Amino acid sequence: MARPPAFQRATVTRIVKESVDARTFVLAPHVAPIPYRAGQFCTFKVIIDGRALYRSYSMSSAPETDAEFTTTVKRVAGGAVSNWMHDHLTEGDEIEVAQAAGRFCLRDTEVPLLGFSGGSGITPLLSLTKSALATTERRIRLLCADRDAESMIFEVALAELAARYPGRLDVVRHLDSAGGFLDAAAVRGFVGADVLADHYICGPEPFMEMVEFAVPDGGTVFSERFGTPAPRAAAAAPTPPAAQPAPPTGTVTIILNRKRKSVPRKDGETLLESARRAGMAPPFSCEAGNCATCMAKVTSGHATLRQNEALTDSELAEGYVLTCQAVPDTESITVDYE
Ligand SMILES: Cc1cc2nc3c(=O)[nH]c(=O)nc-3n(C[C@H](O)[C@H](O)[C@H](O)COP(=O)(O)OP(=O)(O)OC[C@H]3O[C@@H](n4cnc5c(N)ncnc54)[C@H](O)[C@@H]3O)c2cc1C
Repeated sequence: MARPPAFQRATVTRIVKESVDARTFVLAPHVAPIPYRAGQFCTFKVIIDGRALYRSYSMSSAPETDAEFTTTVKRVAGGAVSNWMHDHLTEGDEIEVAQAAGRFCLRDTEVPLLGFSGGSGITPLLSLTKSALATTERRIRLLCADRDAESMIFEVALAELAARYPGRLDVVRHLDSAGGFLDAAAVRGFVGADVLADHYICGPEPFMEMVEFAVPDGGTVFSERFGTPAPRAAAAAPTPPAAQPAPPTGTVTIILNRKRKSVPRKDGETLLESARRAGMAPPFSCEAGNCATCMAKVTSGHATLRQNEALTDSELAEGYVLTCQAVPDTESITVDYE
């Protein structure tokens, strides 16, 4: 059964200052509690200067251990939504939030859990840690990188968990201010003999790439990407066109907000890009296949996803796609955002 992509209003019941630039927002959804798994995220819709903006934020709470439903947001320099949430949201305000999504979750295993976080990447890792401590006997070790001491998030919460579960949780802190960025040698040193562990990685893109490269083969790697990937490298040398390919034929039809529009199909264009070209404003957030904000159903034709870190096999089987990643491979296609 596919997730309903609808948003519901939620009241911000409490705001907690976690560090110099991170806040936890405690949310009370109005219609119904949001079912979620530790490590998942929700997409939020905020209206800033009359424009709807969509961003995804992971839960810092865990369903097994927290009565409250919380997300933790770190300011991004120049960022529209993170700074708006810090500067404008106050207790009692309302915000719109969609269903939880994502596959950065625990699997059924007793192998050790190793977590690698950069900055706000600790948010889903705290959720996973609380859940794994409460529901398994797993050993958990976290390597948390932050800019400096005042940027550290959840220092107290993690210390309390370590004390409550003796011998099961170790937290190693890395501060850039003390010795520069974390490097591959430090990551391999941290992994040590726990090569076969589950490695959960979340942080800024260069941090993720470094850790993914550094962890030794053997374990299972789970990655949660907060940002958009670097643009693809250009081809090394331009190849002269042997013959002009025939222009693509067919149409892309988009159904959104009870409106139906069609545009001629363009080779290599995603369904989200086609919808924008049609003058529509479909929802989107990460544009990297990590969140499900742009999810829609293909009702005729077929598309291939370049990336998919959000939809389950059953959702794919039902015809759902991430429109930011879906490129049509039939001449004509219809996609429905309803
Ligand atoms: C699955 C997922 C989970 C996430 N979970 C969390 C979480 O738990 N906590 C958290 O803090 N974040 C999380 N994020 C990141 C979050 O969704 C936002 O991406 C982040 O808060 C930045 O959004 P923003 O609106 O503040 O910044 P944006 O407005 O999107 O800007 C981002 C950056 O781009 C720059 N920029 C913007 N527009 C331009 C332009 N025109 N030209 C040049 N540069 C520009 C800005 O200066 C800024 O540096 C998550 C992301 C994903 C995909």
